[in-house]
Amino acid sequence: MAKRDYYEVLNVEKNASEAELKKAYRKLARKYHPDVNPGNKEAEEKFKEVNEAYEVLSDSEKRSRYDQFGHAGTDPGGFGGFGDFGGFGGSAGDFSGFGDIFDMFFGGAGGGQRTRGPQQGADLRLDLRLDFEEAAFGVEKDVEIPRMEKCSKCNGTGAKPGTHASTCRKCNGTGQIKYTQKTPLGHFQTIKTCPDCGGRGEVNSSPCPDCRGEGKVHRIRKLHIKIPAGVDTGSRIRLSGEGEAGELGGPNGDLYVYIEVRPHKLFERHGDDLYLEMPITFIQAALGGTIKVPTLGGGTASLKISEGTQTHTVFRMRGQGVSHLRGSGKGDMHVKVLVVTPTKLSEEQKKMLRSFAEKSGQDNYKPKDKERDKGIFERLWDSLKG
Ligand SMILES: [Zn+2]
Ligand SMILES: [Zn+2]
Repeated sequence: MAKRDYYEVLNVEKNASEAELKKAYRKLARKYHPDVNPGNKEAEEKFKEVNEAYEVLSDSEKRSRYDQFGHAGTDPGGFGGFGDFGGFGGSAGDFSGFGDIFDMFFGGAGGGQRTRGPQQGADLRLDLRLDFEEAAFGVEKDVEIPRMEKCSKCNGTGAKPGTHASTCRKCNGTGQIKYTQKTPLGHFQTIKTCPDCGGRGEVNSSPCPDCRGEGKVHRIRKLHIKIPAGVDTGSRIRLSGEGEAGELGGPNGDLYVYIEVRPHKLFERHGDDLYLEMPITFIQAALGGTIKVPTLGGGTASLKISEGTQTHTVFRMRGQGVSHLRGSGKGDMHVKVLVVTPTKLSEEQKKMLRSFAEKSGQDNYKPKDKERDKGIFERLWDSLKG
C-alpha cells in the first residue's frame, strides 16, 4: 500500500507551523485513539499513520529530509507498526510510557509545557501542638523552619559572582528535551524538562560555591509566631512569604501552621464551649447550695446548685468558655453534676439515714407532677410496687 503524504495525513499545509502541526496532530490522535475506537481496525491504522506523520514532521531535521526526499528520506524501518511487539517485552514496567502518551493526548503534564521564568516557591507546612490553655488564651511561639532560601552570595542566580551562565548545550537553551518512545501503538514523542539545566536553559560553567549553582541554600529560619486565642485542632494559620524561595526571582511560597491541641485533664471542648463533669454530694444535690468549680486557666468560679438537683443535670456558666477566634466574647461552660453516693458510712450516719428513710417513706421518690414524663427511676419504682 502506497504511503500517503504526511501533510495530507495531518491535513495541514506544506508550510504549516509547529503549532499548527501539533494542533492538527492532537485533534486527529484524539479522534483515532484506540481507547475511543475499541476494536476498530481502520481507526487503529489511521492512528498509526497520524503518529508516524507527526513523528517526522515535528522533528525539524526529519521534516526537511522528508520535504527533500519524500518517504525515502525518512527511515521507514523505524516504524515497526502494530505487529512489532517483539521489542516491547512482557514486563509491566515497560508500559510506564503510556502515562506520557495519555498525558500528551488528553492535556496532562506530559506535553512539557513548563514555562521558563519566575515561579513561586513551594508552600511549607508546620504542625504545631499546643496545650489546651495555650489554644484557648493564645500564645507566642518561637519555631525553626528548615527551608530553601535564596543564596545571598549569588543573589539567586547560581553563577559565581563575576561570571555569567551560558546557554545549556543539551537543550540549546530551550529548557526542554524531546524524547521518542517506541510503543505498540507506534512512536511517540514526549517533551520533558531538560535534566542538565532544570528547564532554565542556562548552565553555570563556574557555579556559585555557596549554593553549587542552585541559587538556593538550605537554611533554618527562626520565626516568632503569634497564635490568636481560640484556635483549635484543625485551625490553619498562613504566614505569607515564609515558604521556600521562588525560582528565577519568583515570590516565596507561604508557610501554613496547622494547629493540634492536646486534650485537657478536666475540660472537653466543642467549638468555643467547655464541658466539665463535677461530682457533688447527695446532700448538696438534695439541699442545694453553692459549689466551687474549676475554670480555664487554673481559677475557680461559684456555681449555684438548686435544691433537689438530679444527677447529670447540666448548668450553664455564661462566658466561662474559650474566646471566639473571630469577633469578641467567649463561649460558655457546661457543668454536668454527678451525684456521688456516699461510701464508708459510720454506724451513726447509717442510723441517721435509716431514720430519714422511715420518716420519708416512699413519698420522697415519687414524681410530683403526674403529667410529667416518668424517668427510669420512677418507672422502676412503679414496676416494683405493682
Ligand atoms: Zn549562590
Ligand atoms: Zn538544558
